[in-house]
Amino acid sequence: MSSAIERILATVLLGAIACASGACGRADGSADAGPGDRVVVATSTPCADLARTVCAGVPGLRIEGLMPAGVDPHLWRPTAGGARILARADVVVANGLRLEGRMADVLPKLARSGCTVFEASSAIPMDRWRTAEDAHGQADPHVWMDPALWALAAEGLASCMAREDPGHADRYAANAAAFGLRCGRVAERVRAAIATIPPGRRLLVTAHDAFGYFGAAFGIEVRGVQGLSTESETGLANLRALLDEVVARGVPAVFVETSVPDRAVAALVEGARARGARLETGGTLHSDALGVPGTPAGDWEGMMLENARTIVGALGGDASGLDREGTAP
Ligand SMILES: [Zn+2]
Repeated sequence: MSSAIERILATVLLGAIACASGACGRADGSADAGPGDRVVVATSTPCADLARTVCAGVPGLRIEGLMPAGVDPHLWRPTAGGARILARADVVVANGLRLEGRMADVLPKLARSGCTVFEASSAIPMDRWRTAEDAHGQADPHVWMDPALWALAAEGLASCMAREDPGHADRYAANAAAFGLRCGRVAERVRAAIATIPPGRRLLVTAHDAFGYFGAAFGIEVRGVQGLSTESETGLANLRALLDEVVARGVPAVFVETSVPDRAVAALVEGARARGARLETGGTLHSDALGVPGTPAGDWEGMMLENARTIVGALGGDASGLDREGTAP
């Protein structure tokens, strides 16, 4: 972050913290929380969905999502309006593991100001964090891609909320337990569908390395054209090696992502076609951002099923078991 922007943000943030009692108006024009309401602010769209799920039905809570649908959390930095929303938070739900790369200074400041900062990744044992080979020891932040890990994040958030609001501890725990069961069902269906892809084609090539946990959970190899963060550049050597592998294995499709520009994936498709291979763009995956609320990928479960449908269909498997429960014919 440039020092000028950082200074402006710090000024806005500190000023907003100073008037965080609820008396200040909101820059984004929406209504303030009621005087007794606790405000839970979530960073990424998967975190906002997790907060809504765990806090569902609890009175006196207001859940706010910081990042809009479709935004890239690696590159997102709080605007002045975002800083004001954060300043009103009693609890901030973040992903951690440097997903919110440009909020690295903001979250500790909030914690020091008395706000409870819960990082979803902190609820997952470190030995289940994945580290990509070329990530220089950095843990992979995309933990929501494995339903078993995301269920642990829900449990952790439920415990955190119970400490903040002991009167509704049972409700938080029940919500997290119900979500855990749903995670288990989603995992079963996705695993079964991935298993219908012919084994040689079980290679998921995406714009950046967001699907490592997904691949490990569901038995499909994963390659990202960029690294773990969209901030990293695509290396030419990496692109060539990937091209060799895709062509050699006869993989029919590679995938773009809603929150990442598709230049690198387009280069891969062009390169493969120049070698006479039949390679298509298999569709658009939701990697780091859910879809707009109300659309099929507008919540975590819908996003998982929609991604799996896109992947399984394009790689030649049977995606018929992936309709959303309750809406399947
Ligand atoms: Zn990412």
